[in-house]
Amino acid sequence: MTLPRKCSFSKLDTQCDIPPSYILSVIEKEEYLVGMSCLEHLEPIKYKIKKLQHNHSIPNGKIKIENIKMVSTNCIKGSQQDYEDVYSQRLRENF
Ligand SMILES: [Zn+2]
Repeated sequence: MTLPRKCSFSKLDTQCDIPPSYILSVIEKEEYLVGMSCLEHLEPIKYKIKKLQHNHSIPNGKIKIENIKMVSTNCIKGSQQDYEDVYSQRLRENF
């Protein structure tokens, strides 16, 4: 399994091209991947996650931020498909 190689941030039609430095997930009962972030977009993405949680688009748990270098694929819960199709897409649509 491979993680996305780009930051999840996008605005209008512009997708951030910077390789991500952080993995953002939400922990409720399980861990849900919500997006990737470069150094620059960590704050806007965190803000976006809070907004999505407020709208109940994603689980309303604690936001976890992991430095990408420390993450092994064994730690990732859920499938790549879930991540790509659901959470990442929601982030893109809502930015
Ligand atoms: Zn970015």
